[in-house]
Amino acid sequence: MNKDFCHKCGECCKNIPVDFDNRLICFDGIQPLTSEFEQMLIPVNKTKNITFCSCKYIENGLCTNLNKPKICIDYPSSPFAYLPDGCGFYGEIFIKQENIKQKIRKLKEEIIHYEALVSKDKSVQKIIDHHQAIIDKYKPYGADNW
Ligand code: SF4
Ligand code: SF4
Repeated sequence: MNKDFCHKCGECCKNIPVDFDNRLICFDGIQPLTSEFEQMLIPVNKTKNITFCSCKYIENGLCTNLNKPKICIDYPSSPFAYLPDGCGFYGEIFIKQENIKQKIRKLKEEIIHYEALVSKDKSVQKIIDHHQAIIDKYKPYGADNW
């Protein structure tokens, strides 16, 4: 990811969606909430299942944590990184997401094609299952509706 897109507003570190019940964070994609990450969080705003948190290490838009976790160093590496409004990475992430959505749509089309053949050739079921497994990986990001 080209770090030049970051204009150092610090908003990504002040609006981190956390699902404490299921121990998930939506930061650089959806990932398990580690105890290392949890101890940095200050809850700010709670909706139904999601608590938006700020990090205790963000000061004047800059990170003061000298030992920041790898997820912070890599952010935003996932095409499904959670970006706050105005983030400089929005365009790049949007393009990456669209590319994945296109691939998923293609896999769905192929599944329809193979489903028409499966009664004559049982071996295509393997291809259907393989395609479906890829689609399932993106379900948490909404793949069912792409
Ligand atoms: S919200 Fe985006 S532009 Fe702002 S600091 Fe975070 S990564 Fe950089
Ligand atoms: S450790 Fe630094 S980069 Fe990571 S969330 Fe906190 S302020 Fe942001």
